[in-house]
Amino acid sequence: MKIYTKIAIGLALGVIVGPILGAKALYIEPIGRAFIKLIVMLVVPLVVASLTLGTASLGDIKKLGRVGLKTVAYYLIATALAVSFGLVLANTLRPGVGLDPGVKTKPLADYKGVSEAQLAQAMERPGLWDIFLSLIPSNPIKAMAESDMLPIITFSILAGIAMTMIRPQRRRRLMGLLESINDTMIVLVDMVMKIAPYGVFALMAGVAGRFGYEVLLTLLKYVLVAILGMFLFLIFVYSLSVRLMGGIKPLEFFKIIRPVQLVAFSTCSSNATLPINLKVTQEELKVSKDIASFVLPLGATVNMHGTAIYHGVSTLFIAQVYGIDLSFPSQIMVVLTATLASIGCAGVPGIGMITLTIVLTAMGIPVEGIALVMGVERILDMCRTVLNVTGDSTCAVFVAWSEGSLNWKAAGARASSRKK
Ligand code: ASP
Repeated sequence: MKIYTKIAIGLALGVIVGPILGAKALYIEPIGRAFIKLIVMLVVPLVVASLTLGTASLGDIKKLGRVGLKTVAYYLIATALAVSFGLVLANTLRPGVGLDPGVKTKPLADYKGVSEAQLAQAMERPGLWDIFLSLIPSNPIKAMAESDMLPIITFSILAGIAMTMIRPQRRRRLMGLLESINDTMIVLVDMVMKIAPYGVFALMAGVAGRFGYEVLLTLLKYVLVAILGMFLFLIFVYSLSVRLMGGIKPLEFFKIIRPVQLVAFSTCSSNATLPINLKVTQEELKVSKDIASFVLPLGATVNMHGTAIYHGVSTLFIAQVYGIDLSFPSQIMVVLTATLASIGCAGVPGIGMITLTIVLTAMGIPVEGIALVMGVERILDMCRTVLNVTGDSTCAVFVAWSEGSLNWKAAGARASSRKK
């Protein structure tokens, strides 16, 4: 049986058993909390290794100059737009507010892991300077020791840029080390995921014991809102992007990119999809090789629009379920944190859910809330990976088009002559 099927079964059993056990369900909850701790344990080394490596590959920024800047600008703007997309939808459709008021306020009062300080942090309105200053670590080791993700991310990006400026021999050594750390963490993710079904069962039993069956309905709304957000982004943002910044008809684009999307959907991995994306983007979308081979590998590591939408929707959903009201400035903070968290997300299955803990922690929302979204993780991972890889190729099209190296007219002619 596939691990994701097992997790879904664990979730379903937990939801059924929890309300039957009632308060007694809290006795098995520590198993779930152990599982969460095991996941959170991996976040710091994973983000430091993958983000520093991703940024170090910007060594081409000097060589490619404008190309590097355009790529980074597109990735950042589109990712922030994607988080905002998710936030707007979750604010409008309010998937976490389906619970009756009594139940909704209960978790916070009951929940052992939530302190008054955490709640106050989530509700407080940070000033712009505070946000900016909180990005800079005065001591990166301290930030890592305290899992303070925003300064860790800033440090990793700056270290990655600096790595491109040191002697090649030393850079190679450091990159080798980081690659090994990265691979090791990904193997650890696999190991931890093996106990996920039991962890999810225990967490869900505990949660359902407190929340009751309303959780199920709430979850259905959450999945629909997340998928709707991704679908709208795919249809509107990518269509406009390739049309206005590539001169390609959206329908043509989607037809060509379909095999890439199918591989992404079935593997849940941007990294695994990279070879086919490179081939299709160069051969069918006619993006020049130098641009595709710079933009796409970088994108597979740092550009995750689907993950960003998922972060936006999930953060608000969990906050709504726990009865935490996120103010407008706090939501701007979510855009910032989720943009960075999705950049720090590796292009392999399930990591988006792990980096979601970064956003939750930064916002003072109980990390245990991911137990709510875990059972539906697989389907959302499939969908968000489709967007993640599509976003990479729309960026490649944009950069090639703006550099005059998108040979699309010829490609169109060839496509129509093939049809005849
Ligand atoms: N599976 C996604 C990808 O590879 C990352 C994520 O978990 O969001 O693109």
